[in-house]
Amino acid sequence: TIRVRIAPSPTGPIHVGNVHTALFNWLWARKNGGQFILRFEDTDRERSRPEWEQVIFEDLAWLGIDWDEGPDKGGPYGPYRQTERLELYQKYAQQLLESGHAYKCYCTKEEEDADRKEAQEQGRPYQYKGRCRNLTPEQQAAFEAEGRKPVLRFRVPRGEVIRYNDLVRGPIEFPTDSIGDFIIMRANGIPLYNFAVVIDDATMKITHIIRGEGHIPNTPVQILIYNALGLPVPEIGHLGHMTNAERGKLSKRKGEAAIRDYREQGYLPEALMNFMSLLGWTPPGAESGREFLTREELIRDFDLSRVTKAPSVFDRNKLNWMNGVYIRKKSLEEFAELALPFVVRAGLCTEEKARANWDWFKEVMAQVHERVETLAEVPEHVDIFLKDEIVMDQQAAAKFLTDAVKPFFRRVSEGLRTVEWTLPAIEQLVRSIQEEMGLKPKESFQPIRVAITGRTASPGLFETIYLIGRERVLERMAPYC
Ligand code: GLU
Repeated sequence: TIRVRIAPSPTGPIHVGNVHTALFNWLWARKNGGQFILRFEDTDRERSRPEWEQVIFEDLAWLGIDWDEGPDKGGPYGPYRQTERLELYQKYAQQLLESGHAYKCYCTKEEEDADRKEAQEQGRPYQYKGRCRNLTPEQQAAFEAEGRKPVLRFRVPRGEVIRYNDLVRGPIEFPTDSIGDFIIMRANGIPLYNFAVVIDDATMKITHIIRGEGHIPNTPVQILIYNALGLPVPEIGHLGHMTNAERGKLSKRKGEAAIRDYREQGYLPEALMNFMSLLGWTPPGAESGREFLTREELIRDFDLSRVTKAPSVFDRNKLNWMNGVYIRKKSLEEFAELALPFVVRAGLCTEEKARANWDWFKEVMAQVHERVETLAEVPEHVDIFLKDEIVMDQQAAAKFLTDAVKPFFRRVSEGLRTVEWTLPAIEQLVRSIQEEMGLKPKESFQPIRVAITGRTASPGLFETIYLIGRERVLERMAPYC
């Protein structure tokens, strides 16, 4: 069976790029009835935090990605945190040491820094010089006696070529001479990424590695380790990278990098999942414009053979548009539920009040259901209905709320005090007074709008009166009567 994984570091909120990788792995697993594994690369102890693990769990779950094995769920190949697997890495490191594929290196940081500097000055890439490659037991003992603690280095064979067939890019090869002897274990027993990831993937029986193209240079290094341990190399594919509309990196500062940002900005998980699935994958039917796919359709139709290596553009405008379509597909009831936290967070209304007047709240939401692309836009459109206080546009007040409106306002207020509170009754009342008094709609409706909303623009006047409610409308008209 197919087993795939993601291995984020719990050092911050999960990045869109990681989630995109997670999505493609997850789709591949679900399509094939395989398993999707979540594990943590938490060897950076300073920066790894349980809180960030929690955020990763929550954000993946929010998007609709579930995992079969993981640190929270357990599973037959655990533990699923690298810091809990240190003995395992030790064991394999020992094996490499004994077979001669790895050796102890006693070079100091100063020695290596000097080598690095030299390489830089000569304009060539740095490679470990191999000083400790062939130490005699006596030389090793001498370093040990000095108190030096060795790292473990991998002995990269010279003059060979590493080849693999990338699932997305086809055949790729690397001469081993371009790879220096790399460190697999630090002196403190903490493994380095390339080594630990191979041990994890091999012991967790991962069949397909699908990850970002930034990892291509790591691939030959990892293949060397598999080969040295006599372990089968999984299928490996690298996805194209993702840029923002300006072809730059998705920026943390602009709130476009973390999946959490999108949640807070009012995107729907199913819209985001659909949108992200199209970044680097072409669904069947795309030629004729097919781009809206449900979760079930994504799983059914996803195929690695239609994944491209071309960079994909995370186009906010397109996401906004898709999100708007998904919002409009929701029932009013669902939309009101989804919008409620945004309205509460904007301080427009308490959850209690909305729930106690749910039909009214839904009618308010009906005013914007067709008009917003994200849930975060809802508050600005409904504040006039929900807020206790309005902010008066003084210029509009000076223009429309003059003494001339007083007789009209008095009659309208009187009528509104007792009218049956329905849209048609309100409309009929206001129109009949306006006609009886021989006023033009503009002279009469606009002043009411300004008085009750503080603004010159709002949805239809009668809806606005109706939704603001009898008491508040009377209160707001009173000063001008
Ligand atoms: N922690 C690495 C990452 O998230 C894992 C890379 C891999 O998939 O091999 O980029």
